[in-house]
Amino acid sequence: MASQWTEVGDRVFVRRYAFFDQNIVAVLADDESLIVDTRTTHAQARELLDDLRALGAPPVGVVVNTHGHYDHAFGNRVFRPAPIWGHSRCVTMLERTGDRQREGAMASMPDVAADLAEVVIDPPDRTFLDRATLCLGDREVELTYLGRGHTDNDIIVRVPDADVLCAGDLLENGAVPFFGDGFPMDWPATAEALLALVGPATVVVPGHGDQAGRQFVESSLEAFRAVAAAGRRVQAGEITLEDALELVPYPAPEAREPIERAVAQLRGELDG
Ligand SMILES: [Zn+2]
Repeated sequence: MASQWTEVGDRVFVRRYAFFDQNIVAVLADDESLIVDTRTTHAQARELLDDLRALGAPPVGVVVNTHGHYDHAFGNRVFRPAPIWGHSRCVTMLERTGDRQREGAMASMPDVAADLAEVVIDPPDRTFLDRATLCLGDREVELTYLGRGHTDNDIIVRVPDADVLCAGDLLENGAVPFFGDGFPMDWPATAEALLALVGPATVVVPGHGDQAGRQFVESSLEAFRAVAAAGRRVQAGEITLEDALELVPYPAPEAREPIERAVAQLRGELDG
């Protein structure tokens, strides 16, 4: 069982779940563990707890939500009374859109609808705007907000003593990132700021898909720049949306939403 965890840095473990190809990270100290994200349902969160026990991890003393999407935060309740950290707007997002997210997920995934129905949405109770440093035994874990991207509340989680960076859904490996709640015109600058924190040996753990390094962040950044540039040209009337689909390195059916969202942001439709 423990073999399904991968130690990507000193006492930093990643477990990749088939459901949504999602990565959950556990940072271990002597007496407590910190986990990054809590999965989609209480049932999935309890499975995560079992998997942490199988790993031999100390009890979960701290939880971090990378952002306010259901697959990252709906398991929160299971880890109480641990404090749960997140960006201030992660709380806002869960409070304002949590029930809508639940309804959408129930409709699209009938097999987990009953589990989703029982979720008690329990947003972070420890919040910040720009950065926070958490002490976990003898280790430090840094939470940093770099700007809008996948949502308006994505944070990254760094473990400096292990040279690991958890990117949440600012980066997805092997799939097109989800732009449905995103800010495509801001995402390139946010990804640039992230890249600046990635050293030659840094392990980058995306929200979904394989862990990677600098080259993956660079190629993701190029894609975000292409989406923003294509959106600008559509908005300016230089090209059609259909033409723009050819200009981004995503499969055409999946390129539509990012570009439409970029145009919507340029038109000011995402503010307020
Ligand atoms: Zn997400």
